[in-house]
Amino acid sequence: MKMYDVVIIGTGPAGYTAALYSARYRLDTLLVGMMPGGMISEAPDVCNFPSYDNINGMDLAMKMEEQVRSLDVEVVYDSVENVQGVNNDFTVKAGMGEYKARKVILATGQERRRLHLEREKELTGKGVSYCATCDAAFYRDKTVGVIGGGNAALAAALLLSRYADGVMIFYRREQFTRPEPIRILEVEQEVKIKTVFGVNIAKLLGQDRLRGVELDDGNTYDLDGLFVEIGSTPNSQLARNMGVDVTEEGYIAADTFRRTNIHGIYAAGDVIASPLKQAVTAAGQGAEAADSAYQDIQREKVTGAGKDE
Ligand SMILES: Cc1cc2nc3c(=O)[nH]c(=O)nc-3n(C[C@H](O)[C@H](O)[C@H](O)COP(=O)(O)OP(=O)(O)OC[C@H]3O[C@@H](n4cnc5c(N)ncnc54)[C@H](O)[C@@H]3O)c2cc1C
Repeated sequence: MKMYDVVIIGTGPAGYTAALYSARYRLDTLLVGMMPGGMISEAPDVCNFPSYDNINGMDLAMKMEEQVRSLDVEVVYDSVENVQGVNNDFTVKAGMGEYKARKVILATGQERRRLHLEREKELTGKGVSYCATCDAAFYRDKTVGVIGGGNAALAAALLLSRYADGVMIFYRREQFTRPEPIRILEVEQEVKIKTVFGVNIAKLLGQDRLRGVELDDGNTYDLDGLFVEIGSTPNSQLARNMGVDVTEEGYIAADTFRRTNIHGIYAAGDVIASPLKQAVTAAGQGAEAADSAYQDIQREKVTGAGKDE
């Protein structure tokens, strides 16, 4: 079976960029992902990725894919089931094939939790958003809602209040308990933010775009946008099965060189523990992971180290 220098798992910004750097270091590179594009392909308008004022997320992802294909990176669409082995002799088992790799980069991203309400999918990008850092600027002088009560929800509300006229937080508990006290204070002091405690969203209102929400207490609110901030789940099962260290929240613990605790395994993007989960940071970490894989391969070639690991 062919031995790749690097197998990268995940076809989002982190995986594509890792593949780009790996190929440009002239490493034999395979990129395996479930589907083209990753999370960014769900973004209708990406306005914070350097070089484009505004680009559709799927178009951006396809540009990334074209670029790696032009460098002779093999791209396979398949789901990886497990990774076994040791440094310089890993086996990556996917649904339709098995691949050998000297180094493996995990770029499997995370899933944002959804409300699972009727029409949530159709209204995503049409008023329903999962990323205030990405979309707050679209709501200048508008009225928006935030659902959630953790740090991320309060941070989203505070950022939104810099653009919107009014921000409503909807939270299922009777008070905030999880966020840092300073965040709670900031929210309480921001006159544009109002909180409704003890409620859930029952219905999304509006046909072509979100026009408001109906709560489970029967009240309705007119809104131009709704930001869903009810948490995320990292796709770190593969990593955990291999014994890669993860944080309490399940994110992969990678060092600043994007190495994990297992020699020859690197990680990048939304699946690692890092504060800003964006396409640009995922891409940067993907580049760093590929660079570390290259440096390790070079060093092992000269010193002979890593042969028996
Ligand atoms: C609606 C929305 C809008 C957004 N807008 C913006 C924006 O405007 N600007 C911005 O910078 N960021 C935006 N983001 C965030 C951005 O999409 C992410 O930060 C970025 O995509 C993370 O890149 P990644 O490569 O780490 O992970 P992902 O993009 O999530 O890619 C990971 C890929 O790995 C695949 N995968 C997982 N497990 C396996 C497996 N076992 N086998 C094979 N493949 C696997 C997944 O299917 C996925 O395709 C947005 C996110 C959402 C949800």
